[in-house]
Amino acid sequence: MFQWIKDSINLVIPHTCASCHVILARPDAGLCIHCLNRIQALVKGYDHELTQRLGKHKNQVCRGYALMYFEQHGVSQHLIHKIKYHNGEHLATYWGRYLGTILQNLGVYNDVKSCLLIPVPMHKRRARRRGYNPPLHIAYGIQEVLGDRALVCNSVLSRVQHSKSQTSADFNQRYQRLTGSFQAYPLPGKPDIIILVDDVITSTSTIVHCAEALRSVFSKDIYATALAFAA
Ligand SMILES: [Zn+2]
Repeated sequence: MFQWIKDSINLVIPHTCASCHVILARPDAGLCIHCLNRIQALVKGYDHELTQRLGKHKNQVCRGYALMYFEQHGVSQHLIHKIKYHNGEHLATYWGRYLGTILQNLGVYNDVKSCLLIPVPMHKRRARRRGYNPPLHIAYGIQEVLGDRALVCNSVLSRVQHSKSQTSADFNQRYQRLTGSFQAYPLPGKPDIIILVDDVITSTSTIVHCAEALRSVFSKDIYATALAFAA
């Protein structure tokens, strides 16, 4: 949709909370104060369980960070749904800034001179249908916090195979299905670290496949981060 049409619609239709649908005075976070407080309780910053789940694949991804737990039918699911399916670019960037700040407070960027932020790519067909890739806009938010040290790059990794929705599959099934789905290209410059950015991490199979593909062009630490982690 053209940007001016989107802007006009936004002027006419008031912004509502992604979860309880009350009208928002300030639309930035996409949630009312009540729902925002419920999200705060889910905010962990550093998720031990996520890193543990990535443990088997330490050579690919050394550590994982998620902002909140993904709650089925809860506020976090409503927020992620709005980001993914309702032209949520601004919302993705807002929460990306929040994620970036948490990562900074945790010291993830300490001693890092250059960092490449790589959004988990969508297949072209899906990206065309949806109009945008949410992880790319989350990465832009993280970059705002990091400034010159970070570069968002969505041309290093591409999705060469379209995979069907895999919500019901376990790690092994997902992992098998994604084999050969990602391809990496030469990196711009020589970053100290790569941070893979996604909206939600569930079984970690997508992240691990992305990192495996990147291993053909990068041998230092790869981190993974997402707004939400479905434990
Ligand atoms: Zn609400």
